[in-house]
Amino acid sequence: MTREEILRADALTLGKLIKSGDLTSEQVTETFISAVKAEDGKYNSYITVSEDAVSEARQIDDKIMAGELTGPLAGVPVAVKDNICTKGMLTSCASKMLSNFIPPYDATVVKKLKAEGMVILGKTNMDEFAMGSTTETSFYGPTVNPRGTGRVPGGSSGGSAASVAADLAPVSLGSDTGGSIRQPASFCGVTGLKPTYGTVSRYGLVAFASSLDQIGPIGKTALDCAELYNAISGVDERDQSSTVSQKVDTKAVASFDVSGRKIGIPEEYFGEGIDEDVKARVMEAVKFYEDQGASVEKFKMPIIEYAIPTYYIIACAEACSNLSRYDGVKYGFRPEGVDNLMDLYIRSRSEGFGMEVKRRIMLGNFVLSSGYYDAYYNKALQAKALIKKAFDEAFEKYDVVIGPVAPTTALKAGESLSDPLKMYLGDICTVLINIIGLPAISVPCGNDRDGMPVGMQIIGKHYDEQTILGFAANYQRGV
Ligand code: GLN
Repeated sequence: MTREEILRADALTLGKLIKSGDLTSEQVTETFISAVKAEDGKYNSYITVSEDAVSEARQIDDKIMAGELTGPLAGVPVAVKDNICTKGMLTSCASKMLSNFIPPYDATVVKKLKAEGMVILGKTNMDEFAMGSTTETSFYGPTVNPRGTGRVPGGSSGGSAASVAADLAPVSLGSDTGGSIRQPASFCGVTGLKPTYGTVSRYGLVAFASSLDQIGPIGKTALDCAELYNAISGVDERDQSSTVSQKVDTKAVASFDVSGRKIGIPEEYFGEGIDEDVKARVMEAVKFYEDQGASVEKFKMPIIEYAIPTYYIIACAEACSNLSRYDGVKYGFRPEGVDNLMDLYIRSRSEGFGMEVKRRIMLGNFVLSSGYYDAYYNKALQAKALIKKAFDEAFEKYDVVIGPVAPTTALKAGESLSDPLKMYLGDICTVLINIIGLPAISVPCGNDRDGMPVGMQIIGKHYDEQTILGFAANYQRGV
């Protein structure tokens, strides 16, 4: 295989070739590491590149030879978002606050990747503390979308999506609190799965909004995402919200038949504010399913109107509490020359956090303050119950719900930094899913008039990763 063929291959293909002895993990890992070193200057998709990846790959090759590692992803390299703890490797959350934080332990998902025989290439760029939709708020500078110069890669897992799109990692892990796996996957033209809340351990994921955060895979294909999901999912006693989940039957995903399945299309996902090209591409993909015998029905989901305020109230409330631990005492950044404790708190937080993070902390404290708690936070919890009811009703009728991932394709760099509200509104199609913990996948479905990728979002019932991955794989088989 040539260098280019290795870089372009999907993870399962690399896994097969390593297993058969046609390639070694060392060869594959070396190829990716040297490509990252040579080419990532253009994209800035990595914050840290592993110094040990090639020697780790060599050890994995020995274990594969000895028959100790036999899984489909053994020997395959993977990139990990920089808010997931990696023992001995910087985990900065793209923040000055954690720019010196070297975790003494691995996140559960990282342990699981290693147990599978996967090799960690490095840590990927992101919006600071996963707050944002463009990867422009990173302390380490913005990531560039490999599919279009001058375009953002989406966020917050922009580095994880861009590294896969630029052939600088075969697969990666991202995290999704309100769309941060699906939206960058959509903007960069790759596939990203946000699993059901609780199926993948959050132990070692730096918390943003704990009731919404979920780790998931990004890859070139739905089948790669299915296999990586199987590798990282499972109950973990270290995460109290962790729940039992079925492993996905990847063979059934690969041969999934959509005939007789029922697709629901929320009209509001195709209404005002959604780009015409985005609507057209997603509806063409739906037609592809219809032509194979799936039934398609439009329905109304007016609760979508409350998606953004509900999400931002809950997310900011949880964030301000989670981020109170960064006080200059226990973790990360501490300024020089402080006189007293109050000064230490104030200066650590003022100098350590960026603008967007501060905005969220202020919003969160506001909605939780005694005078406003009922008006905002309690209202948001009521809206959450209504959102749950709307989806419960939809899933009585449909196997999956399909819509766009985002109202537009990748924005121009710099466009939304000056207008945070505009950026928040771009989350309209993704945030509902996190509020009630559903699984959803982002699948590339063609391009807009400027050649930028469009993403279709397939939403499933709780714990039904199997069906949404099946729909995604069926589409990728056919196009
Ligand atoms: N764009 C959303 C936000 O800024 C989602 C972020 C995420 O999923 N981490 O909150």
